[in-house]
Amino acid sequence: MAKNRQLPLFEKDLDASAPPTVRGGAVVREVRCRSVLNRTGPADYSFNCYTGCTHGCVYCYARFMQRFHPHDEPWGKFVDVKINSADVMGRQARKLPPGRVFTCSACDGWQGLERHYRLTRECCRVLLEAGFGLGVLTKSDLVRRDFDLFAGRDVSVGVTITTPDETLAQLWEPGASPVAARLEVLREAKHAGLRTTLTFGPLLPALSDTPEALNRLFALAAETDVDRIWTDALNPRPRVWPSVRDLLVRRWPGLVPLYRRILFDAEHRARYERDLEARVREAATAAGLAGRLA
Ligand code: SF4
Repeated sequence: MAKNRQLPLFEKDLDASAPPTVRGGAVVREVRCRSVLNRTGPADYSFNCYTGCTHGCVYCYARFMQRFHPHDEPWGKFVDVKINSADVMGRQARKLPPGRVFTCSACDGWQGLERHYRLTRECCRVLLEAGFGLGVLTKSDLVRRDFDLFAGRDVSVGVTITTPDETLAQLWEPGASPVAARLEVLREAKHAGLRTTLTFGPLLPALSDTPEALNRLFALAAETDVDRIWTDALNPRPRVWPSVRDLLVRRWPGLVPLYRRILFDAEHRARYERDLEARVREAATAAGLAGRLA
């Protein structure tokens, strides 16, 4: 198959006959998919065995998926499980040229349901056996289960941390593993000889983008000796603002105007991004990690 063949970004899933169930507070529907491996940047491909994510991050950019897959339940409270993912992946992996696969792009592949379904694990196994490389990014310590598959292969293991503060993390990423458990993922990955990455983002204005918070984040990066560090500012992606605003109104009402300016005032946003980049570089330099910034 030609390398530049276009695959649909989000394939239309086919209904499976099983009725929905409720697990861990989320409505779970088993569906069948026609394709699971998608061409996408920044890697060559990505895949998602689940539509929806029970981590339920307040700032989640994948909320836009609800435009393509409408659900009555709010984001974080539904998951469609593509139960034939591994078979479909096997078929696609045989036909497509090997490349790097971002795992995963619109859900956390190691969210709680993966413990039961093991679909992300199977897809990773299929891809690695077919000669693909994996760039794993997760907020779940369940990924440690799959280090046996990754060892000795072309795999980098990354975790995302938005704030070093466990209480803040619980508010912004209610279903994700604690920050300490995510750091443990990196230590174990390193121990297993895997390349590691840390993504600090989205950095939360006035909460985790301050010099003090950034110094704490980069101290954690230094302590885990992570190979590569990415940072990201909060972005005005579709459907993100209502959930961010609701949490701010409940917990930090005084920050609403600041967030609104950063997200929606282009001039203010440009200045914010410049200042944030300078603070990030300063904190990275202080931790001796400027050379590891992506
Ligand atoms: S882990 Fe990622 S995909 Fe899942 S809710 Fe959080 S930001 Fe969204």
